[in-house]
Amino acid sequence: MDTLEVAPGVHALTRASTVCYVVEIDDGLLMVDAGLPGFWTDLVALLRRLGRTPRDVSHVLLTHGHFDHLGVARRLEKLGAVVWVGGGDLRIARHPYRYVPGRARLAYPFQHPGSLPHLAAMARAGAFWVGGLDAPRTYDDELPFAAQVRVVPTPGHTDGHVALVLPDRDAVLTGDALVTLDPYTGRRGPRIVARAGTHDAGRARQSLAALADTGARLVLPGHGEVWRDGAEAAALRAAEAGVA
Ligand SMILES: [Zn+2]
Repeated sequence: MDTLEVAPGVHALTRASTVCYVVEIDDGLLMVDAGLPGFWTDLVALLRRLGRTPRDVSHVLLTHGHFDHLGVARRLEKLGAVVWVGGGDLRIARHPYRYVPGRARLAYPFQHPGSLPHLAAMARAGAFWVGGLDAPRTYDDELPFAAQVRVVPTPGHTDGHVALVLPDRDAVLTGDALVTLDPYTGRRGPRIVARAGTHDAGRARQSLAALADTGARLVLPGHGEVWRDGAEAAALRAAEAGVA
């Protein structure tokens, strides 16, 4: 496990090649994505350092409904947090193992042996034991702190995928619309997640323009390292990299 303050009041929790973020806003604490179930101890340890507890996380903002971004969301929901997800991902957020990827996932570790350590680490962090949400809200409703977090639709990886912009940190949280490590191939650098995990690669490519348009300097992906050279350059690199 690794915890890093990547921008003032933005803390990245990394485990099993997967990243989620705790964001301090004016009147509370948010989580952006919720990792895997094994992130719970990391989250509690971070919050303790901040003088907080899991009950202080008032909202969980999901970039999308995949199991590796949903890990501790149900647990926080039970403690009273409101969980938000794109309308197109409502069904998978309730039932995380029912989504249909673009290609058969099982073949991937054979075609891309580089994925094996990442997928094995995800399994150890509880990838097969993620609970669905009871009553998530969708971004069709306005966020109560909309001045501090802007929602940018970025469909493709999933139908309801969104990116989240933090204007006062000059940052965009890209989820799996743009990653710097593809867990399905093990490849690094800005890219779209392989078709094994991406529902519609063509739409995912189109959504790169929306990410570039944010103009954010800091790119905080759902898998891989922080990218500090701007969303526009990251989107360009991802377009060039193609989709595995
Ligand atoms: Zn995903």
